[in-house]
Amino acid sequence: MKPLPRKAFFDTPPTAGLPLQLRDLLPGGDSDLSAALARFLGVEQVHLESSGTAALVIALTALKRLSPIRTTVIVPAYTCPLVALAVAQCGLELQLCDLKPDSLDLDPSMLKALCNEQTLAVVPTHLCGRISDIDPALECARAVGAWVIEDAAQGLGSRVGGHSIGTRSDIAFFSLAVGKGLTIFEGGALIARDETVRQALRHASQTLAQPKPWLELKRSVELLGYAALYRPTGLRLAYGLPLRRALKKGDWVAAADEYFSLPITLHQVGSWRQAVGVRALKRLPDFLAQQRVQAEHRLKRLSTLSGLVPLEGHEGEGSWPVLLVLMPSRKARDSVLEALWGNGYGLSIPFVHALPDYHYLNTTLTYKPPVECQEARRLAGRILAISNSPWLSEADFDVVYAAIEEACHAERMTRS
Ligand SMILES: *Cc1c(COP(=O)(O)O)cnc(C)c1O
Repeated sequence: MKPLPRKAFFDTPPTAGLPLQLRDLLPGGDSDLSAALARFLGVEQVHLESSGTAALVIALTALKRLSPIRTTVIVPAYTCPLVALAVAQCGLELQLCDLKPDSLDLDPSMLKALCNEQTLAVVPTHLCGRISDIDPALECARAVGAWVIEDAAQGLGSRVGGHSIGTRSDIAFFSLAVGKGLTIFEGGALIARDETVRQALRHASQTLAQPKPWLELKRSVELLGYAALYRPTGLRLAYGLPLRRALKKGDWVAAADEYFSLPITLHQVGSWRQAVGVRALKRLPDFLAQQRVQAEHRLKRLSTLSGLVPLEGHEGEGSWPVLLVLMPSRKARDSVLEALWGNGYGLSIPFVHALPDYHYLNTTLTYKPPVECQEARRLAGRILAISNSPWLSEADFDVVYAAIEEACHAERMTRS
């Protein structure tokens, strides 16, 4: 497929982030974001941390203290590389669990085989807001006395049976980073069911996350920059330019902004950014409801394409930063990316590789054998993310749809 012409003066954000308003940025007001998030999630307490990854570091540190002889953390073989880095930062061993075929869920039989008395925690993940079946993780972990930490980084506002995701596990974390729905530029939220665990989280947080005024100032300036540029014209500068530069070099890891490194910094979130979050949070329920309607309508259209697997996730009210689909082959997926990635239509991929295939990380991360991730690799080669931003108009979606349709059609032709 030929690259399609770039949209003029316009870049759709790759995910549906909640835009900030000028009045969100005013000084003063309620600056207790933890309390506001606790009300929003319907839980007793929320611990605010400096990022989703920082929240995971705090969670693992707390659990290490509660179960000192356990040393292994089981994570999905296809997930955000920051998750693996958080485990490494805590000096714990990483064990990869493969996915079920054509699914974002952990493979239950492999998970069962991997869990043992060394397992500290299992990390089932609601990738891109798609609700994951966490029952196998809860069962396998309970059977060996391990903990469950739900990675709900992109799932703030997702509900199952009227309850927020994350409330059935021991611990869950949400990200407040750019591109993840509600954002304070960088931030994370932790919840835990049990008071003993909450106490351990508080202790870990007080020990590891100190105030860092200079870093907080930097984050505040970045949040102002986000508020100014998070619109289709501004994103050309902040997102489109570096993306196109990376794509020109053929560096997909840079294009997906996935060069991460240790150490993960932890610090306290200042009161101005918290107040911005409190004000923006009031608009989140309506925003999520609107994105759900758009996602449902567009997924219905995509589900008519033969050879395409839409990833809808489990029953419940999910959050929809993107629509996820699996193309029939890597070739078909790459042809759509070549036509549209970087051209302003909000097309991207959640993560470029299965974890062991990030070669730049192989000096930092080691995985406990067996390293089996065949399904994660198959998924990584076929997955596409279509932005569910309100700025991706119906006409723009038609362009994306047509490119996907053409690639699926070409695939059927080569197969028959
Ligand atoms: C973004 C993300 C994280 C990390 O969150 P940050 O706030 O960026 O540190 C962890 N897991 C998943 C699945 C993510 O998408």
